[in-house]
Order: sequence, then C-alpha cells, then structure tokens
Amino acid sequence: MTGPHPLRDTGAARRREVLISGAGIAGSALAFWLHRAGYAVTVIEKATALRSGGYPIDVRGTALDVVRRMGLLPRLRDAHVDLRRITFLDEDGGKVASVDPHTAAGSVAGRDLEVRRGDLTHALHAAVRDDVEFLFGDSIATLDQSGHGVDVAFHGGGRRTFAMVFGADGMHSRTREFLFGPEERFHRYLGYCFAGFTMRNTRGLSREVMMWNTPGRAAALYAVGDSDDEVHAFLNFARPKPPFDAFRDPGAQRDLVASVFADAGWEVPGMLAALREADDLFFDGVSQIRMPRWSSGRVALVGDAAYAPSFLTGQGSSLALVGAYMLAGSLAGRDHAEGFAAYERDTRGFVTMNQDQIGEGGASLFPTTARALEQRNAMLRRLRTLPAAEGRPAHSALTLPDFTPVGREPVG
Ligand SMILES: Cc1cc2nc3c(=O)[nH]c(=O)nc-3n(C[C@H](O)[C@H](O)[C@H](O)COP(=O)(O)OP(=O)(O)OC[C@H]3O[C@@H](n4cnc5c(N)ncnc54)[C@H](O)[C@@H]3O)c2cc1C
Repeated sequence: MTGPHPLRDTGAARRREVLISGAGIAGSALAFWLHRAGYAVTVIEKATALRSGGYPIDVRGTALDVVRRMGLLPRLRDAHVDLRRITFLDEDGGKVASVDPHTAAGSVAGRDLEVRRGDLTHALHAAVRDDVEFLFGDSIATLDQSGHGVDVAFHGGGRRTFAMVFGADGMHSRTREFLFGPEERFHRYLGYCFAGFTMRNTRGLSREVMMWNTPGRAAALYAVGDSDDEVHAFLNFARPKPPFDAFRDPGAQRDLVASVFADAGWEVPGMLAALREADDLFFDGVSQIRMPRWSSGRVALVGDAAYAPSFLTGQGSSLALVGAYMLAGSLAGRDHAEGFAAYERDTRGFVTMNQDQIGEGGASLFPTTARALEQRNAMLRRLRTLPAAEGRPAHSALTLPDFTPVGREPVG
C-alpha cells in the first residue's frame, strides 16, 4: 500500500465524534476499530446493561482473524465450548444418530470457536469500555441529516450532533427504519420461529446437545459445560407466516410456543414449564435481512441490522465482526460517502456468499415433512462415518485488508 496509511491515528486526523446504536457484537467491535482509528466513539444501548443470554454462537473463518487482531483470541479460546457430540432423537426420544458437532455445523475442530454469546459480548465490551462512552438505557428518537452532521435526539431527552451514526441495533433495527422505512421491505422470512432460554440441567448433560425432532418441530437441550446446573433450551418450529404481533410481546411468544408443542413428548413438557418461568427468553423469526444499500448519507448499518444471515447459517456473529472491521477500515483516509461505498464494495460479496449458505446444512436440520425427516435421519447416520469437516469456503472467503495504524504492531 502506498501513500498515508489509512488508519493513522495522529493529530492530523480530526477527532470526530461518532455514535453507534447497539452494544451487541457488531456495535462493540465497531467501537473498538473506530476508536483505534482516532474517532471519539459513543455507544448507545437500549437495554439498561450489556445483554448476555442467547445460544452459544460460532466465530469462524475470516472472523477469527478479526478477534485475533483485537487481541481477544486467547480469552475466547479459554471460553470455547468444546462440545463432544450432538445426539438426534426421534419422536419417542429414541436415538437416531450421534454426530461430531463440527461435522454437523461445517466448522473446523481446533480452529473455529463456539462461545456463549455473553462471553463474546463481554470480551468485546471489556476491550473498549475504558476508551469509549457507553450510554445504557437510552436510544435514538430522531435523526436529522439536513445540517453538516447528524443531529440526534435521544429518548432520554439529550441532543447531540455527530459526524456519523452507525446502526448496529440488530435484526429489528430502528436505525434502518429511520433511514430506509419498515422492516418488512428487507425481512426475508425463512419459515421458522425459535425460542431460546436457560433451564435446569435435570438430565445431568455435559458438553453435548440433544435434539428431538418431529416434522416441523425441534427441541434441543444444549449443555455448554461439564454437568453445569443449567442448560440452554431451544424450541424451533415451522410457521408459514412471521408472527409479527408476537415479536414485541413475550406473553404472546410463550403462548405461541406452548400451543405448537402442546402434544410433544421427550423432555418438551418440562421445557415448556421452564419457558413460563424463564427470565432470559429470546424469541425471534428465522429470517434474513437483505438490503440493496447499507448506508444513507452519514449513517451506515452493520451486522444483523444490515445483513442478518439467520442462525441457520451460524454466521451472524462472524458477519458482524468482519463487517465492523471492514466498515471502520474502509472509512480511513476517506470521507463518509467514499468510505461507505468502499465498505459495501469490499464486503458485500462475502456477506452474500454466507447468507446463501442456508440450505447448505442448517435448514435441512429442521425438516418440515415426515419424508424429509427420514431423509435427514438417513443423512445423519451416514455423517457419523465421515471424517470431520474441512470448513465451508464461504466462512473464509474474505482476506482481511491490513488496516493496522502506522507505527503500531497488530495486537494478538
Ligand atoms: C440477548 C440476545 C440473545 C440472542 N440470542 C440469539 C440466539 O440464541 N440465536 C441466534 O441465532 N441469535 C441470537 N441473537 C442474535 C445474534 O447475537 C446476532 O445474530 C449476531 O450476533 C449479530 O450481532 P449484532 O450485533 O448485529 O446484533 P445483536 O447481537 O442482536 O445486537 C444488537 C444490539 O442492539 C441493541 N438494540 C436493539 N435496538 C436498539 C435501539 N433501538 N437502540 C439501541 N440499542 C438497540 C440490542 O439490545 C443489542 O444489544 C441474540 C441477540 C441478543 C441481543
């Protein structure tokens, strides 16, 4: 690379104030890289504290290089969930097949990471909290780009002007709605809904997943540690139309899940009882966000807000991490318009390739007909005998450009 280095953090680069909405995976990662590039970063998060909870998530391929450059790889390796097996069960709870987790997920043993979502958000937050202003329990009320910057009014009553604003506020992004209109335009529903929550580990499970299936329904217990007191419970079901009414109503979510699984066997009755009590329920549609553009004026989107891939790909957190790195790096040495254009140009191919992974494994884990379930079970019995996966090319399809600031060694 020639000319001034893009991420040079010198007095020459004006310390410009930027706002990130959302302290999830994308938001904290973007805060890290923008701070390193010399911006004064504020992160506003609707929740009153960092949100943990959620099913363990994967960090694979190119995203591993992002966390390595952030210096987080050792911490995340320590937090790695080293699953021993995934056991698939039939309607009566009988064993169909027990498979190597990496083979089932298309990840690479010894290289790719699976960590509790909370471990990743806390690691990212810890890496930036001393350098970045975090405002919890508040959110953006209005955005006005008619002046020289972005005038932001907050629900909490404050008003400030920022050079740029970033929407890292997840699949149901309000920032996206401000800029581009209702979610329905970009929401590609994939025909399933899911609920995740924690419950007591009554079966004494240890570093394994047990997944029960009938056509259109799946129930899984996911034991992260060695005989921990708690397991992650997961209930997934096919539903032709997205239940938009339920998305904002936890009571309606519980009722919906309970009615879908009312006659189910195995451990499901106990799971439904736990669902009623759970204080960490996460319910959503299995959906993607696909947008023709990721920015408008001085505001850009990153992570699920711009390109949620759905959990069927297992790539949501990896896209958020890579997107954050690419967005911050693309802005270096450029104005917002050129920077946002470069971000899209250099990142969209990787994103689309990963979004297109649905159907490459994930969706076929949740068949909706008896015949498809039989075929899946036959496939799983064969899978048992195959060697461990090599990883999917899409996961590593982007080689990170080197945006390291001049005079600084890469971290990690
Ligand atoms: C608590 C939680 C549990 C999850 N569990 C699962 C799971 O089990 N399976 C799965 O596939 N995916 C889950 N996800 C989504 C998953 O984390 C993302 O797909 C992925 O990590 C991409 O991250 P992201 O940062 O783009 O979005 P997210 O991780 O969704 O982060 C978005 C952040 O923005 C905040 N936010 C939302 N709206 C506003 C607003 N208006 N103003 C300010 N802040 C706002 C949210 O509170 C959140 O902290 C979960 C997300 C959360 C927040």
